[in-house]
Amino acid sequence: MQDSAFPLIAGVELGGTKCICILARGPDAVEEEIRIPTTTPAETLAAIEAVLDRWTGFVGIGVASFGPVGVDRAGADWGQVTVTPKPGWSHTDIARRLGRRYGVPVGFHTDVVGAAMAEAEWGAAAGLADVAYVTVGTGIGVGLVAGGRPVDGLTHQELGHIRPVRLGGDDWIGTCPFHGACLEGLASGPAIAARAGRKAEDLAADDLVWENVVHALGQLLHTLVLTGVPRRVVMGGGVMTGASHLLPRVREAMTKSLGGYSMLPEVAAPDTYVVPAGLGGRAGPLGAVLLGAQAVRERAFTTP
Ligand code: ADP
Ligand code: ZN
Repeated sequence: MQDSAFPLIAGVELGGTKCICILARGPDAVEEEIRIPTTTPAETLAAIEAVLDRWTGFVGIGVASFGPVGVDRAGADWGQVTVTPKPGWSHTDIARRLGRRYGVPVGFHTDVVGAAMAEAEWGAAAGLADVAYVTVGTGIGVGLVAGGRPVDGLTHQELGHIRPVRLGGDDWIGTCPFHGACLEGLASGPAIAARAGRKAEDLAADDLVWENVVHALGQLLHTLVLTGVPRRVVMGGGVMTGASHLLPRVREAMTKSLGGYSMLPEVAAPDTYVVPAGLGGRAGPLGAVLLGAQAVRERAFTTP
């Protein structure tokens, strides 16, 4: 897909701590890639525009942003970061602003949907149109793609906040400011650190805290299987990639939790059903490029 038939896109991965701007036609046709720190919305968006102002020839823009974001094109909040605890960022318009400035189609979605699309095009789920990408890092997020498109309705799903059944006897309160012991409040990096009293990267593989993490993540996979959507689940993020013992344990927890139900041949082969991310840190910016290319195909110009 990185031949000249693929349009030249300006992609922006908008992250909690840094942004990556990329001018590319695909992973093997990157013309420029620039990192800028994420600070206030005004400063960060001005810095992104200073990069894009220098670039010529791009026919679309794609933005893969930290969430939650407005993804309903008919909605007033489309293209915005909506309500976030990140200081100053709630209700920040991003996509309409870039669309007006550059006059090209703009694609906009979450960073995890971008990663799902990139893994499905060029990574660990290449060739599959129906894919879930799960990140277990500072937070837990899921990008769900079906038929090559994000699965959206009113908004994007927020499966990182489902409430897993707890392991017997576990009544730890969790760290989610909204739900306490939701999935993110039990199994994200900061949750693991809060429970263990030291960083997730310093925990031995046989530390009992992992049992709770594995049990909770197994239930996320159970839930994803039951949606009937993903043909493969790709798992990334600092906790998953750093703690290499996790993936086999999480696969096993999924199989145990499903209890023999919905055992399609794909699901019954967990080693190929649940796989590590193939693109690493490149999934975000390349996902933005795919979102931009999709907008170009659909001639999705922004309305003021
Ligand atoms: P973000 O989610 O902000 O993009 P990352 O995906 O890099 O960031 O995840 C950061 C989290 O990963 C931190 O909570 C950190 O403690 C955790 N982490 C980093 N390295 C490891 C490791 N080797 N083992 C377990 N957890 C790790
Ligand atoms: Zn929560």
